[in-house]
Amino acid sequence: MARYTGSVCRLCRREGTKLFLKGEKCFSQKCAVSKRPTPPGQHGQARQRKISEYGSQLREKQKARRAYGLLEGQFYKTYLEATSMKGITGENLLSLLERRIDNVVYRAGFAASRPQARQLVLHGHFAVNGKKVDIPSYTMDANDVLTVREGSKEVALFKAAREGSSRIVPKWLTVNADQLTATVNTLPSREDIDFTLQENMIVEYYSR
Ligand code: SF4
Repeated sequence: MARYTGSVCRLCRREGTKLFLKGEKCFSQKCAVSKRPTPPGQHGQARQRKISEYGSQLREKQKARRAYGLLEGQFYKTYLEATSMKGITGENLLSLLERRIDNVVYRAGFAASRPQARQLVLHGHFAVNGKKVDIPSYTMDANDVLTVREGSKEVALFKAAREGSSRIVPKWLTVNADQLTATVNTLPSREDIDFTLQENMIVEYYSR
């Protein structure tokens, strides 16, 4: 399946929640969800039908997949990996999604949105433990250190990040804005993830 190239605000309206895919705009009055909180399309404003259990599970899965910017195949692969880990599958899934390098870049405040973080990773601006990583799905582990590579530190975006980002950094990360580094202190637990999501419904969706 090809990557979605349409309006990302449309995805937020479809899921009925902010997925924060546009950087600064997401926090402004211009946010499409704030302006028009109805599903997109000709019949978006029509009265909503009662949604089935399957429909609710599908929406939770789509919400997570779209927020983290994964294709269906990639998301399912991550789910399978979560099922093979010890512990609760839904929480494992969220932990794997949070530890993707593109998400860590976003959470650390080095990018305005996850789509932008993905682009920056693809362009080879980051290293983990001193080795270049340009694969957005790379999963970071406890004690891994993400750095902006030497040749990239003068990129305007990173200069701005060095001056301080207003992003609230989650507890499981320690960011040194001056050095442009982010360290994974510990693996993120469910309470560290501020995303309103019912991950158990995603597990039920794939377990059908
Ligand atoms: Fe979603 Fe951001 Fe667009 Fe608002 S501005 S609809 S949060 S992508």
